[in-house]
Amino acid sequence: MEIVFLGTGAAWSLPEYSCNCATCTKMRALGEERTRTSFLIRCGESILVDCGPDIRQQMWNHGMERPDVILITHEHGDHYLGLDDLLAFRRSLPEDEWTPLPVYASEPAWKAIEIRFGYLVGSLIEKRVSVPGVPLEGTRTRIIPFKTFHGPTAAGSLGYVVEEKTPNGNFKLVYTSDFVRVEDDPEILYEPDVLVIQSHWLNEPEVNRPHHMSFQAAKEYIRKWAPKHSTYLVHISDGDHIPGDSCNHFLKKTKPVSPLADPASGEPYPVPRCLCEWQEVVDRICRDYRVPGPVVVTHDGMRAVFDRNRPAHPRRRTNPKR
Ligand SMILES: [Zn+2]
Ligand SMILES: [Zn+2]
Repeated sequence: MEIVFLGTGAAWSLPEYSCNCATCTKMRALGEERTRTSFLIRCGESILVDCGPDIRQQMWNHGMERPDVILITHEHGDHYLGLDDLLAFRRSLPEDEWTPLPVYASEPAWKAIEIRFGYLVGSLIEKRVSVPGVPLEGTRTRIIPFKTFHGPTAAGSLGYVVEEKTPNGNFKLVYTSDFVRVEDDPEILYEPDVLVIQSHWLNEPEVNRPHHMSFQAAKEYIRKWAPKHSTYLVHISDGDHIPGDSCNHFLKKTKPVSPLADPASGEPYPVPRCLCEWQEVVDRICRDYRVPGPVVVTHDGMRAVFDRNRPAHPRRRTNPKR
């Protein structure tokens, strides 16, 4: 299995236009960017997970073939508004060589997709409904959706378990998408080979009204589900308060309820601003709190290749633009 992280950022991408917070300033100085979270799984077929408004730029930057399967996790714009741009694959073929792309989403998510992109159904995309707990039909890979809770504005929110058959047994990837908790905690989420999990903030906010996952909360899921190979953090935002930052009053910034602290000194960990700082603080926390690793902070364009016979570690770059 190969994963290409096309985008790794939150709903508004980073750095954000007109924002001079400590995170956006640091990222701009380093030339870092996080576009809307989306990734491609290659495992005998190409599976595109979410298709946000940055998909055209992501296809150009990281190279993407025509996907065989598209999984949409929920009905928020950052996860499906790029579907129109997949017309590039159709337009560059003679009409009789095209078959619509199967798009899987829950029934509530399809309601939103059909309002916006009803004109694409039947020509560019084909409607397939994902039902929690029921393996998808029509895919070569075994894919099982599971219910996640991401607040009342995303009633159709799902995660996906993707299982690739290999000569040495199944290779299992679990992706949570945006969530604040998982309903019913299905057995199938335990001991995946790879876990891809949201990490919207470092610290759990006082009020988690957007219903996202912080690393502070995610580390408990990593411990519980115990991935065998590695964990990847995605959907990273600039929403943490950073002590002393003049932009802490911005709407997107949230105060921590009780920031993660070094157990030895009691000092809160520094809030990371860029990729390198994120990886450093995650490594420290995993060491201090005995979170099974490695836990990898993704960046746009990161590729991870997994070989059952030879566990391969992803290439890491501290500054993706250099
Ligand atoms: Zn999102
Ligand atoms: Zn969302």
